[in-house]
Amino acid sequence: MLKIVRIPVLSDNYVWLVHEPVSGETMVVDPAVAPPVLEKAEELGWKISQIWNTHWHPDHTGGNAEIKQATGCTITGPAAEAGRIPTLDVQVKGGDVVRLGDVTADVLDVPAHTAGHIAFHFAEDQAAFVGDTLFAMGCGRLFEGTAEQMFGNMRALEALGDDTAIYCAHEYTLSNGRFALTVEPDNTALVQRMAEVVALRDRGEPTVPTTIALEKATNPFMRATSVAELAARRAAKDAA
Ligand SMILES: [Zn+2]
Repeated sequence: MLKIVRIPVLSDNYVWLVHEPVSGETMVVDPAVAPPVLEKAEELGWKISQIWNTHWHPDHTGGNAEIKQATGCTITGPAAEAGRIPTLDVQVKGGDVVRLGDVTADVLDVPAHTAGHIAFHFAEDQAAFVGDTLFAMGCGRLFEGTAEQMFGNMRALEALGDDTAIYCAHEYTLSNGRFALTVEPDNTALVQRMAEVVALRDRGEPTVPTTIALEKATNPFMRATSVAELAARRAAKDAA
């Protein structure tokens, strides 16, 4: 079983440290910055051997160079964004398989937030690292893609199965939930989840990871039944 540790950085980013105990390999997903990641790995006695990037945005890649310099790690990321991630060593795309020690992850193409955005799915561990594609009760903004692509991403992530844990890259849950309630005020699963989220955030606790089952029940973007509905909800959230 993978050991996964959350590192909160900047105002609302989560960097994920993923340790594979059989080989002892440790990988970092989307390091926005380096120092807190290097400190946490040191504290745990884990040696970072890889970085995996989901997309080129600086709050997902900003720590690449410094971590690579400190550890000699290998950096894997989206082939379609290689030009915007100069620190990349290995370029991957949907359908590829990436290895962390004893386990492998499937690469999924999930374009829309950025044109080449990818996600990493560890099927056996039922864990997916989705960057800025799917959030707790939300989805990424459509900076370089379309609502149609995001609608397709929701179907692809849904297909990973209800018990799949979703490791997203931001703590946006409270804001997303408030918006979700304007879309579906009578959704009892959503009302109940928001009460739990408010309590967690009041105590300064994280609300991530989430699960596919929870998102299917409460996420207005995953629950949108058409591209047009997703597009309208995304536009309304952007304007909120
Ligand atoms: Zn982003």
